[in-house]
Amino acid sequence: MNHYDFASLSLKSGLRNNLSSLGYQQMTAVQAGALPRILDGVDLIAQAKTGSGKTVAFGLGVLQKLEVKRFAVQSLVLCPTRELADQVARELRKLARGVHNVKVLTLCGGMPFGPQVGSLEHGAHIIVGTPGRVEEHLRKGNLKLDALSMLVLDEADRMLEMGFQATLDAIVEKMPKQRQTLLFSATYPDEIRVISKRVMNQPELLQIKEQHSATTIAQSFYYVNDNAERVEAVLRLLLEHRPDSAVVFCNTRRDTEEVAARLREANLKVIALHGELDQRARDQALVCFANKSVSVLVATDVAARGLDIEELDMVINYHIARDPEVHTHRIGRTGRAGAKGRACSLFGDRERQKIERLEAQSQATIRPEPLPTAAVLSSPGYKPAMVCLQLDSGKKQKIRPGDILGALTREDGVAGKEVGKIHIFDNCAYVAVRRHVADQALRTLMAGKLKGRSVRVRKIR
Ligand code: ADP
Ligand code: MG
Repeated sequence: MNHYDFASLSLKSGLRNNLSSLGYQQMTAVQAGALPRILDGVDLIAQAKTGSGKTVAFGLGVLQKLEVKRFAVQSLVLCPTRELADQVARELRKLARGVHNVKVLTLCGGMPFGPQVGSLEHGAHIIVGTPGRVEEHLRKGNLKLDALSMLVLDEADRMLEMGFQATLDAIVEKMPKQRQTLLFSATYPDEIRVISKRVMNQPELLQIKEQHSATTIAQSFYYVNDNAERVEAVLRLLLEHRPDSAVVFCNTRRDTEEVAARLREANLKVIALHGELDQRARDQALVCFANKSVSVLVATDVAARGLDIEELDMVINYHIARDPEVHTHRIGRTGRAGAKGRACSLFGDRERQKIERLEAQSQATIRPEPLPTAAVLSSPGYKPAMVCLQLDSGKKQKIRPGDILGALTREDGVAGKEVGKIHIFDNCAYVAVRRHVADQALRTLMAGKLKGRSVRVRKIR
């Protein structure tokens, strides 16, 4: 377990169990930094760029603290606009799915006033709103904050920019001094320090720097004694996780070939990509990787440049990159916000210094994890989901993707959903099809015609 695991937090089981169903496998950097502090009850200022997952950070804090049986407004979340308040309320309701009867109410300007009064009479645990409207309800006595134990200022920089300062002061005056206050912001201008002095109690400051966004990806580190162990480690990680698309980054061309040879021996579909491949071989390698007929690409950084794959399941660093920036760039190729991506880095004694630099960069301690056990080595390898067929006609023969798809899916052919990516080059074309229909697809294309002429087709091995 590392400190990006939600399991490292002492959350109510109802909250924790719901997280993976929302697709949240690992904490983002701001969540990992903020949540332990929030759950400890301290006042916290957290600055992290847009999209870094701040809502879940305070949302879990608010919900963990909530006592559902106490029917009173216990938390207030203030946002600069109605859209943002609606988003936050939606996220809170999603997070609260595993806890019974949590009532979240939004109070925003631009919405009819009367119905909000009615909803307030029915009561709520959590209010999410914009400052103007919340203040109005307070002033008119519709809303009481006597039982409030948590205040969240979301997008505080924008609220201050929009001139909500005095309104915020008026709201804060109506709530107990004894409370927890959290402030979230994408930037950290002086005004934030000023207001935090007024409304917070000895706040701690957490800043997640832009260039550290890569730390939002689940990273694991593994210690290896020598190169022999290193290759075996790559193999174990691949056999354990069986990614559809993984890149193994090597620092030298020789390493790419050694690693690829060993993986091939273990029956994995793998291609070594290095600077000395000719253009044709390189094109074909990239096509097969992109259309998922090859699961593993072993590459140097230079060779991987321009690799345009949207979704890598896994990145493995055979050695730690020479430069921390390159490391960040490598692992940044896996899923966004840790959605799916996994970054595994192998290191030995001679790379201690590089590890220290990464620790300094991410301001986190790196602790090696145990590798998957040797038992995975006896598994028979795994095959990619797709098979790639190569046709001997391309742009020069006026072949377009629709022609290939049409030829494949005619009556006695294969279903459209079995056909994957199609790439067309000057004098050849590639089409990926699901493994179980590969032979059928091959026969169909051979028997038919494309643009009036028959084509030669072969499976790429
Ligand atoms: P911010 O408020 O920092 O701009 P949000 O809270 O709006 O960012 O989150 C941005 C996106 O990241 C949302 O779509 C959210 O669902 C997603 N997200 C948040 N936390 C996680 C996580 N731990 N794993 C995966 N996705 C997450
Ligand atoms: Mg936000």
